[in-house]
Amino acid sequence: MMGQAKRRRLAKETAAIETEAAGVYAVMIVTPQIALEMGAAALEGNLEAETYMLAIAHCLREIPKRRPRLLCLTCDKEFSAQALPAAFALFHAYRDDAKTALGNGLCDACATKPDLEGRVLAAYKEKLLGDLRVLPRFSPGSPTQN
Ligand SMILES: [Zn+2]
Repeated sequence: MMGQAKRRRLAKETAAIETEAAGVYAVMIVTPQIALEMGAAALEGNLEAETYMLAIAHCLREIPKRRPRLLCLTCDKEFSAQALPAAFALFHAYRDDAKTALGNGLCDACATKPDLEGRVLAAYKEKLLGDLRVLPRFSPGSPTQN
């Protein structure tokens, strides 16, 4: 169950993304394995991977500062400097020049349960976009390539 204050904050944070997206969004789920692959790709000059890694770095810096504490996207686990997410979902406009992303942490328990993608999309449908429909992807693992 999500409180009104959290719902309002999420709506505010997504306003810039909505403007960029024109109704079409992408979600990148970054598990520890994918983070390692992205880190390597970023070091080799992949700008998309670098952008995702910078977004996650920003989230990691924000987590200890936020009051009320940020919660896991798919449960009510609170994050802190001592309890960081095990994975992240990055929600952004489906376009190559997206400037804004919403980063949501996933706790270790949630990140390791089956069907992570389905649970993340269900959470975004519940919390952000009641009319969310999932389009077939063109290139698995890379929502901005086609
Ligand atoms: Zn969780």
